[in-house]
Amino acid sequence: MESISAKLYIVPTPIGNLGDITLRALEVLKQVDIICAEDTRHSGKLLSHYEIKNKTMSVHDHNERARVDTLVAKLANGESIALISDAGTPLISDPGYHLVNGVRAAGFDVVPLPGPCAAITALSAAGLPTDRFCFEGFLASKSAARTTQLMRLQAEPRTMVFYESPRRICYTIEEMIAVFGGDRHIVIAREVTKTFETIHGDNASDLLVWLKSDDNNQRGEMVVMVAGYKAQDDEIAPEVIEALRLLVTELPLKKAAGLVAKLYDQKKNSLYKLGLELGL
Ligand code: SAM
Repeated sequence: MESISAKLYIVPTPIGNLGDITLRALEVLKQVDIICAEDTRHSGKLLSHYEIKNKTMSVHDHNERARVDTLVAKLANGESIALISDAGTPLISDPGYHLVNGVRAAGFDVVPLPGPCAAITALSAAGLPTDRFCFEGFLASKSAARTTQLMRLQAEPRTMVFYESPRRICYTIEEMIAVFGGDRHIVIAREVTKTFETIHGDNASDLLVWLKSDDNNQRGEMVVMVAGYKAQDDEIAPEVIEALRLLVTELPLKKAAGLVAKLYDQKKNSLYKLGLELGL
C-alpha cells in the first residue's frame, strides 16, 4: 500500500483503453485528498469507472497559474494532491507545468508515476530509430510559424515525434513533403490502444496518397513520427554548411573549415573545398 503524504502526485491516465491504468495510479487516486483534473466532467467518467469518489478541482490552461497558491496552501495544510489530464501523462502537451514548478519552488515534493503517453506508446511500435528522438508536440497553427518550425528541423538527425489533429493532418504532411522531401519516411499512429488503432508508415508522398484514399485514415487522434535526416555518404549536412557560413564571417576559410571539421567530425579539406565552391 502506497503511503500518501502532502505531496503532488503526477498520475498518467489511459489514452483510450481504460485497462491501461496502473495499480499504483489507482491506489494514489483513491487515497489523495484532492484530484486536480483538466476537465472534471471528462475525468469523472474514468474516476467513476474505478469507483473513485475523491474531491476534484479543475486545473486547466486558463486557470492553472491562479490555482498554484491555493494548491500550495493545501500542501502546507498537510493535504495530498494528484494531477491528471484528460488522457496520458500530464504536462506532455497538457497542463501542469506551472503547478509543478510552483509546488517545487515552494519546497514540496512532486512524485511522478509512470504510465501511458501517446508519443512513447506510438514510438515503441513505429519501427523508427528510438535510441535518440525529439518530441515536438503540436506544430503552430499559423502556416508561416509551422513552416519555420519545420525548416529548423530539416537537418534534425533524430526521429521526430509530433502530435497532430485530424483536421490538419493532410496539410501537415504536404508541408513536410515541401520541407523534408517526398522520400522521407513517416509513420502515423492513430487511435492507439483503441478499436481502430492503425499504425501506417511509408515515404511522405505515398503516405499522403494513403491518407487521402480513405477519410477514415484521417480520423481520430494521431501521432506523426518522422525519420531523422540522413546525409548521403558524400553529402555535407545543412547544419555543417550553416556553421561554416557563420564562422567565415569572423575567420579565414581555412581556419573556419578546420574548426567546423573538428566540431562535426568532418574532413577539413572537403569543407575547405566546399567553402571555395560556395564562394565563402
Ligand atoms: N498528455 C497526452 C500524452 O501523454 O500523450 C497528450 C495530450 S495532447 C492534448 C493530445 C494529443 O495526443 C492528440 O491530439 C494526439 O496527437 C495524441 N494522442 C492522444 N491519445 C492518442 C491516441 N490514443 N492515439 C494517437 N494519438 C493520441
